This record gives sequence, structure tokens and C-alpha cells, in this order.
Amino acid sequence: MLVLFDIDGTLLKSQHAGVHAMLAAFHQLHPDRSFSFDGVDIAGRLDTLIYDEMTSRHGVPSDPQSHDVFRHTYTGHLERRLAERNTVIALDGVVDLVHALAREPGVELGLLTGNYPATGRLKVRHAGLDPDLFKVNAFAMDGVTRRDLPPVALQRYRQRHGSPLEPARAIIIGDTPKDVDCALHNGCRVLGVATGEFTVDQLRDCGAHHVVDKLSPIGPVLDWLLSHRATR
Ligand SMILES: [Mg+2]
Repeated sequence: MLVLFDIDGTLLKSQHAGVHAMLAAFHQLHPDRSFSFDGVDIAGRLDTLIYDEMTSRHGVPSDPQSHDVFRHTYTGHLERRLAERNTVIALDGVVDLVHALAREPGVELGLLTGNYPATGRLKVRHAGLDPDLFKVNAFAMDGVTRRDLPPVALQRYRQRHGSPLEPARAIIIGDTPKDVDCALHNGCRVLGVATGEFTVDQLRDCGAHHVVDKLSPIGPVLDWLLSHRATR
């Protein structure tokens, strides 16, 4: 079984540290312009798509080389910001749930997130979790949209274990309709958690197999997740 965690709004909250660091990076690279995220859809979206929309809105280059420079600049700003003042907080139950799952035989953990790899790992570390607990990951650059990410994670699972995993034995945990959509589109299971901007009802209406208002207490969440370990 593979349990794939979204990061922002699911594992942790960062008081928008990522958005602030992205803005700082845009301003550093293009000091003659002013940048704003007003009206830009962020929740559950790949950072690569957010970058594309921001560059097109503000009329700055978005070629691959410029994107690489932006990514490195953004990572530097986020690193400095979190080193000065760590605004990342692990959500209720997350640390215990991740550690409990990591101890379970037959359970592999991963990240399935719109973050870039470096900034995603940075946020996870500042939430008090070892990013290396997550062995099978899919990040922003692994696809064009979030729907592309679950097959990448499944392919990495296969490479690591030498045998394929049925999509229904991969469970995605996320806080937005996009997390639910990417799971259902690929035949994966999905646990919605209403610790982001969306309610239990909204996530249930999107078709999540199970929805909780938060991941604490971890007992019932763990029971639900592990009930899928042996089923085929
Ligand atoms: Mg999220």
C-alpha cells in the first residue's frame, strides 16, 4: 500500500511562507515590476502552473532557463525566511500519523504535491518531519497538471519494489478538490481532510472516499487507511 500526502493544508500550514518567498523571488529577478497573486488560483495547484500564470500576467519571460533561475531564487528566499522565523506548523495529528504509518509493514509513504522538490522538502523539514520518511514522491515538475502525478508515483513505486501496485492500493490524502480529482481520475483512493480552505462537505461532494475534519485523533484515520492494506 502506498500513502501519498499532499503538503500545504494537509501535512502543514506555513502562514503563506511559500507565496511570500515567491513574491520576493519575482521582485528580486524583475525589480522594475510589481507582482501580485491577487486572483491567481493557488490551492492544490502545481507551482509550475502558478509560475506560468504569474509570468504571463506580469509579462516576464517563462522559458525553461528563466524558470530554473526563478526556482533557485525562490528556494533561497524560502530557506532564509524559514531559518529566520519558522512559520511552518504541522497540522494536528500529522507527526504521530506519519510516524505510525512509517512503522507499519507493507506501507510505503510518499509526497504528492504541487511544490517543487526542494521547497516541498524544506517545508516538511520545518514542520518537524524527516522528508526521507517519504520514499515515493511526485512533485510539481513531474507533470503538466496534478492528474499527471499519481501515475508518476506509481511508476516510482514499481521501480523501487520491482512490482507494480494497483492504483486502488494507493491512497492520496489531500485538502483540496484537486487532490480528490487527481486520485479519482487515476483510480486511486482518496482521503479528504478539511484543514485547508475546503469543508468536509465540499470534499465529500467532489467524491472523496472518506473525509475527516482533521487527521487527529489518528486512531480512526489509521484504521481507515490500514483497512485498505490487505484488500485487492
Ligand atoms: Mg494542499
